[in-house]
Amino acid sequence: MFDVAVVGLGPGGASASYSAAKSGLKVVAFDKRREVGVPIQCGEYMPQEHTFKEIIPNARHIDLLMSYPRELIRIKTSGVVLYSPKGRPYSDKFDGYIIDRAGFDKWLVSLAIGEGADIRIESNVYEIKWIDDHYVLSISSPEGKYSVDARVVVLACGAASPLNEMVGLERERDEYNLSPVIQMQLAGVDIDTENVELYTGNKYCPGAYAWIFPRGDGFANVGLGIRKPYLPKDSDWGLRDYLKHFIKKHPVASKKLENGKPISVVGGLVPVGPPLKTVGRNALLVGDAANHVIASVGAGVPTAVIGGVIAGEVIAKYLSGDADLSLYEKMWREEFGDALEAGYKIRQAIDVLTRSDTLLEQGLKLFGKEHMSEFVRTKLSPGTRFMSWVSRIAKTL
Ligand SMILES: Cc1cc2nc3c(=O)[nH]c(=O)nc-3n(C[C@H](O)[C@H](O)[C@H](O)COP(=O)(O)OP(=O)(O)OC[C@H]3O[C@@H](n4cnc5c(N)ncnc54)[C@H](O)[C@@H]3O)c2cc1C
Repeated sequence: MFDVAVVGLGPGGASASYSAAKSGLKVVAFDKRREVGVPIQCGEYMPQEHTFKEIIPNARHIDLLMSYPRELIRIKTSGVVLYSPKGRPYSDKFDGYIIDRAGFDKWLVSLAIGEGADIRIESNVYEIKWIDDHYVLSISSPEGKYSVDARVVVLACGAASPLNEMVGLERERDEYNLSPVIQMQLAGVDIDTENVELYTGNKYCPGAYAWIFPRGDGFANVGLGIRKPYLPKDSDWGLRDYLKHFIKKHPVASKKLENGKPISVVGGLVPVGPPLKTVGRNALLVGDAANHVIASVGAGVPTAVIGGVIAGEVIAKYLSGDADLSLYEKMWREEFGDALEAGYKIRQAIDVLTRSDTLLEQGLKLFGKEHMSEFVRTKLSPGTRFMSWVSRIAKTL
């Protein structure tokens, strides 16, 4: 019998495995992938240490997140530029890194192994059942099917996994709260590495924005996300068509990207809804599985790592009789709950403005300069002039 079984070895599951094993628990962790961290379903953007503290000032479980090897940093960026539908740039200073995300995930998993966690790749967990007083997980792997017993499970298996419901926790169903995304890595692009760039406009990315994240040496991660209700009913265009259109036709972006050639294409799902209930019977949700993503910008790596560390520590306390598992939800809410709630509210405000390019252009013109800094730092509270303006507009629509 294992103390903890973790499903998923992205940043959330790997951190939970490390933290639980470090706390003295017997841990087994599964990922269906053949290689940890691959394919890279990520823009690989991380705030630098000091900017990160501006977004999540109350985070205490940050030592692991802050200690990744510096050689995993590909480049440093110093600003964010948001382009209006007409191509007007609004920028702000904001220090970030583009990291080697596959290396980052592998590093976390190696730490978990170092603490004694039993890590199993190519292992798909397809069923979880509560039997008597523990969970039984069914796994299929190249060696065949088998099961393991565990007292507690951690689901860190991404957004919209059917496993959530097997431990009695709801999964996300609202199509406005789940964004299918596509990203190409391009080689041979002509971009500076100073800024990460976001592009709005319903012609290119209805209801959200496209991104260009430079990777250095002429490489860039270029992607976009479009939620299902935003895909026009009278067109058969999918995400790939929109991304190609953005790369080839956007008046500003295409000049930088037109010579680029795709060397990889990935899809994914980014949860952009409010945080879910994360504690069930002897079960916790971590990372994307818990909607622990800052919805306004689609960033979830830092919160997955912090949440994972908290989960491991709380499970150890729970199994030794010193705490209830609900402590997990209390702690993550204290440490980064505010940023998740604020990010969700900002995303809802953006939803109002993206109803029309004219509205978005007007909103950026009135408030872009004033509020860019708060937007990138997830600090736009309902009391600001911008948010009051948006709620007035929303009432008229
Ligand atoms: C295209 C894209 C770009 C992004 N860019 C950024 C960015 O620049 N910065 C940022 O902070 N965030 C970004 N995000 C979000 C970020 O990648 C996620 O928030 C983060 O990976 C969450 O970590 P996680 O551990 O919760 O889940 P994941 O990293 O998704 O890991 C889940 C793991 O669970 C495994 N799994 C799933 N089901 C099972 C099963 N049944 N059995 C076994 N294993 C299973 C999967 O194989 C996977 O390895 C981006 C997301 C996408 C899709």
